[in-house]
Amino acid sequence: MPKNIELVNVSKRPFTFNLPHHIYCAEAGECRCTWTDLMTRQQVRHGVVSKVKRIRTPAAITIPGRGTTPGLHPAVKKVPEVKAALQQSPRRLMIKGG
Ligand SMILES: [Zn+2]
Repeated sequence: MPKNIELVNVSKRPFTFNLPHHIYCAEAGECRCTWTDLMTRQQVRHGVVSKVKRIRTPAAITIPGRGTTPGLHPAVKKVPEVKAALQQSPRRLMIKGG
């Protein structure tokens, strides 16, 4: 298992980012999304059928200003918002560990 990393928010403002399924979950090999069952009712010729639709909501992480979030999978580095914040000048994020 890859070593967890820590993201450090070096700015005073909170930093929030999503963990997109096709990027984070695919890379990490674990799904951090929230799955919600949505019941839908559909009118058909002979009555009404109920169907369950699974809705996926990506996980979101907020790092408070000057705060840290330890124990993150290194796959967060692939998230575009994180990538951008790591390269931004002045820097908004720093990586510790990994
Ligand atoms: Zn997922």
